[in-house]
Amino acid sequence: MEKINFTIKHRARMGRTGQLQVRCQALQTPLVVHAGLTVKSLLAQEIAKLGGQAIKQEAFDYWLSGTKAAEFGDLHQRLHWSGLIIGDPGTSQAYQWAKPRGKKKDGVRFHDPQLGQLKFYTPEAALEWQKELGCDFVTSFDRWSDYYAPVDDLKAAATQTASWLGKPTDGILASVVGGGLKRVRMISAQAASRQSCAGYAVKGIGNNVKLREQVRLLQEVLTMLPEQGLHYLTGNNSLEGTLIAMLAGYDLVDSDCAVVEARHHVAFVQTKRLHLDKQHFVTDQRPIDASCQCPVCQAGYSRSYLHQLCGQGAALGDRLLMVHNLYTLNQLASAARQAISADVVHDLAAKWAIDELE
Ligand SMILES: [Zn+2]
Repeated sequence: MEKINFTIKHRARMGRTGQLQVRCQALQTPLVVHAGLTVKSLLAQEIAKLGGQAIKQEAFDYWLSGTKAAEFGDLHQRLHWSGLIIGDPGTSQAYQWAKPRGKKKDGVRFHDPQLGQLKFYTPEAALEWQKELGCDFVTSFDRWSDYYAPVDDLKAAATQTASWLGKPTDGILASVVGGGLKRVRMISAQAASRQSCAGYAVKGIGNNVKLREQVRLLQEVLTMLPEQGLHYLTGNNSLEGTLIAMLAGYDLVDSDCAVVEARHHVAFVQTKRLHLDKQHFVTDQRPIDASCQCPVCQAGYSRSYLHQLCGQGAALGDRLLMVHNLYTLNQLASAARQAISADVVHDLAAKWAIDELE
């Protein structure tokens, strides 16, 4: 794996901008990591044209095939993507398929319902696969647990995840788990802090947690981690959740929200949302957002046409909305970087009615 350099450039309140030097590219942080659903929905070149710079790939999706990692080759070539690829073990599916006795000290045993086979996924395999697939960052193995799981489960997950941090390697992100419990999260964060690693992958604070609680947790977790190193928030974050995380000090933030909301016929417009399947759009000849520079708005596709496509369940409707939403999401990340650099985080937070940031 190539040497990665991350430098913090500017701090404003809790937020910070930085530069990530990887694969001969200098990426400005904070930035959005486009997760699996986005990569499955749009071509890599399209994601790049709409401002995307980083994607996430889960080793589990490849490992499950039962073949060898070498069969897939380097993912940059396979996906035609020259930007950053963040690898993740992708343990959530394995743990959701596993019975309680399948949660072992050396990995997770589960029944694969698709192939009808018993399988055993280990930290060593997950690391090896991420490296073989050519990921620029690899993430340490974690014992997945639901945010609302009993305390004992969350504690077992934190202790087990800490024990899998292993030997420090260049480009490794240490998984930090623990749900919403401070003392449990601390077990995981302290173990990760003792490692020499490229950064910290904060897991398990997702969309199923109320936004106000997310804001509190996101800030609390960062107080447990070293300032140096990348702060990476994983999970399926909403548009608002992504912005909050960026303003709170996360350098990389996972999000599939552009695609998820497009599939529900929703378009992002400034701080609002248009639900294009609503009847009143039938006669609305305006573009989604007259001030938007995305290819869909620039070409002048009307809200009325999008309403019609959505009503017909046409794939084209989803696709046009994905393009607009993805561009808007990346523009929001750019706005977050500018606000932090210019010390006007408060203004951007106020515009989005985010008042819980310290
Ligand atoms: Zn647009």
